[in-house]
Amino acid sequence: MNYQTGAQEENQVQNQNHPKKYLNYINGEWVPSVSGKFTVNVNPANGEVIGEVPQSTKEDVDLAVAAAKAAQKSWRLVPAPERAEILYEVGRLLKERKESLSQILTLEMGKVIAEARGEVQEAIDMAYYMAGEGRRLFGDTVPSELRNKFAMSVRVPVGVAGLITPWNFPIAIASWKSLPALVAGNAVVWKPASETPFMAAEFVKIYEEAGLPKGLINLVFGSGGVVGNAIVDHPDVDIVSFTGSNEVGRQINERAGGMLKRTSLEMGGKNAVTVMEDADLDLAVDGIIWSAFGTAGQRCTACSRIIVHEAVKEELERKLLERIAKLKIGNGLDESVDVGPVINRSALEKIDEYVKIGVKEGATLLCGGEILSNGELAKGHYYTPTLFTDVTPSMTIAQEEIFGPVTSIIPVKNLDEAIKVNNGVEFGLSSSIFSRDVNRVFQAMRDLDTGIVYVNAGTTGAEIHLPFGGTKGTGNGHRDSGVAALDVFTEWKSVYVDYSGTLQRAQIDNK
Ligand code: NAP
Repeated sequence: MNYQTGAQEENQVQNQNHPKKYLNYINGEWVPSVSGKFTVNVNPANGEVIGEVPQSTKEDVDLAVAAAKAAQKSWRLVPAPERAEILYEVGRLLKERKESLSQILTLEMGKVIAEARGEVQEAIDMAYYMAGEGRRLFGDTVPSELRNKFAMSVRVPVGVAGLITPWNFPIAIASWKSLPALVAGNAVVWKPASETPFMAAEFVKIYEEAGLPKGLINLVFGSGGVVGNAIVDHPDVDIVSFTGSNEVGRQINERAGGMLKRTSLEMGGKNAVTVMEDADLDLAVDGIIWSAFGTAGQRCTACSRIIVHEAVKEELERKLLERIAKLKIGNGLDESVDVGPVINRSALEKIDEYVKIGVKEGATLLCGGEILSNGELAKGHYYTPTLFTDVTPSMTIAQEEIFGPVTSIIPVKNLDEAIKVNNGVEFGLSSSIFSRDVNRVFQAMRDLDTGIVYVNAGTTGAEIHLPFGGTKGTGNGHRDSGVAALDVFTEWKSVYVDYSGTLQRAQIDNK
């Protein structure tokens, strides 16, 4: 076994045949769990065991939180521009290792290598962007209503931030959360998804090498039920930032709510692309293929509904089928592959179950609907890109998040109906409209009830300097990414300085 302690040099990918063993990172040390137990990490492309990580316990979380709490006491006093210097170095190291990180990402998560490179780039961009925030972290200076009085607001850190992240964007989402948390003066305890532990360890190694003082980032591997809950329940964790499923997000909200603990929840989506009869259909097909089948449909922003004007439905179906037939399925490390595996066997079965429900409820299956079980692909978890048509808005496949390469055409008569169908789900993450009519586009921008709206592009492709998140069941009003992320990881403090030498009473002495 090859132990990765954090000090060892890169390139994991050179050694793919040797399973890796990573440790937790607590108070600046790479340590095993107090349980002494490990769990395996499996490559979804071929079922091979690629390594092991600790199966941690509540005691490990207690140690991590204690380290974070102690370290945060002095970190909050470090000037933010000085904190940001470390983030610049994190960005530089991420950039230097972009290729090896991308290879590891594909190895453990399965997304095709071009997308993995894009994801690592997102973390690089976020590091530089949040480093810049070290010289901003703006508050307001406002005129006082009284003479000889000064009034301003400043951002202060919340304290210890518990981060719980999913496997589908293992480094991008971790960067959206950890970088703003740290630049704002918080300490971090992070539980990554069990499916993607290597990216987490590699990211933490970069923080370590960039010179982040010990205790400020702590990594605890383990299950959601044990490690995740221990973070949520810990009285010294001041804020929990979670991205994942609705089911788990709701549970976290309930547990944390009882303690009046702040939670930032980014959850599922049921995103739709609307195609009007005046749209550039080839462009719409490009957007749909990328959004529905990229990352094998496992993006929170995946296009899982296509709301199409009935006048162009048949033409769109034909063009989509032509393109789907050309998609190459396989191991994401092969540069020519378009669609990689899904994350694990249970995801594969869940997707297949949804497809069966779609057929049973009367949708027309145009293509796909199969688990690939031939040759080499049988060793991994591959599902054929699947297209349904004549789906009605209330069908299960039009309402629930499938999280696989499955999308459904829903015909409509006009824009009002399209918007109604778009909004008629419990989620509100991303939506898109293809149209050349500026009036329609502006109406859609106003009325689509989602946190992200695209015009003449698919439902994916967020940039890091704008807020990321959704309405309704997708979230609880917070946003990742962009300057909005700072609102999650800071408290507002309003400061009044009265230099009049007398007692002045607001709302009384100025009238
Ligand atoms: P998940 O099963 O909810 O897991 C997310 C994280 O929560 C993992 O680290 C998981 O740990 C942990 N967890 C599980 N049970 C827990 C519990 N009882 N208490 C505390 N933590 C717990 O979601 P996923 O399958 O990883 O990710 C897919 C979902 O994420 C989809 O619904 C997708 O739409 C959503 N997502 C949303 C966004 C967004 O920004 N809105 C972005 C990406 C993904 P284990 O891995 O150990 O189970």
